[in-house]
Amino acid sequence: NSSIRLVDVWKIYKNGDEVTHSLADLNHTFQRGSMSIIYGPSGSGKSTFVRIVGLLENITMGQIFVNGTDTSQMSQQDKNSIIQREIGFVFRNENLIPTLSAFENVNLPMNNSDSTPTQELLKTVGFNDFKKYPNDLSKEEEIRVSIARAMVNNHSVLITDEPTGDLHRSEAAEIMNLLQDLNKSLNLTIILTTNNKKLGAYGDFLELEDGKFI
Ligand code: ADP
Ligand code: ADP
Repeated sequence: NSSIRLVDVWKIYKNGDEVTHSLADLNHTFQRGSMSIIYGPSGSGKSTFVRIVGLLENITMGQIFVNGTDTSQMSQQDKNSIIQREIGFVFRNENLIPTLSAFENVNLPMNNSDSTPTQELLKTVGFNDFKKYPNDLSKEEEIRVSIARAMVNNHSVLITDEPTGDLHRSEAAEIMNLLQDLNKSLNLTIILTTNNKKLGAYGDFLELEDGKFI
């Protein structure tokens, strides 16, 4: 039963003499197949949380276990191979490549000469206009394609930072429903941040305040 486990995790920033914490003594286990909604206002530590739980950035103190393996002393290179195997990301600022169609954007990391798996994956996220280019996609479609792109390696974990932040309420609900479907049907572990408390209803609700879970 795989999981991501945080033990006494701190992230501290030093700017000259000034020391600030972004995350303070976090303890939590994300079980395989769970869907967690991390809620918090701006500055509460959500982005930092996403980067450290995704092994993209070092923590200052504590341990992060992925499937039982302590990653806290690992080189970034070793962490990158865990990311490669286990973790997909959807970040709002990581845009699709504008000169490639939706299909090509997802097929690129898939590195597959057979187009069927890529088409199946796009259908799974509810997107059928394979030939559309990113500039012709709505925000909601863009998120759907980005979710597909994040799933290409059959990752067990999907980490996403405020995916519905640019969406209207009904579109946000569509995306949250899609993520719930993927969570249930594929046993995909989902860790999602939001500054909208209402989205907590879609999963296990965790609230960040000043870098701590409250
Ligand atoms: P959120 O995503 O919830 O807005 P962040 O994770 O961006 O929160 O920031 C949490 C806190 O950590 C803030 O006080 C922020 O100023 C601080 N912080 C984040 N990144 C850095 C950094 N690179 N250097 C110094 N302080 C940082
Ligand atoms: P409004 O002020 O427009 O009524 P809210 O403050 O309730 O909207 O929510 C702001 C945003 O949060 C919405 O634009 C939408 O993106 C999202 N949102 C709110 N409630 C839900 C919900 N139940 N399901 C999905 N998304 C929601």
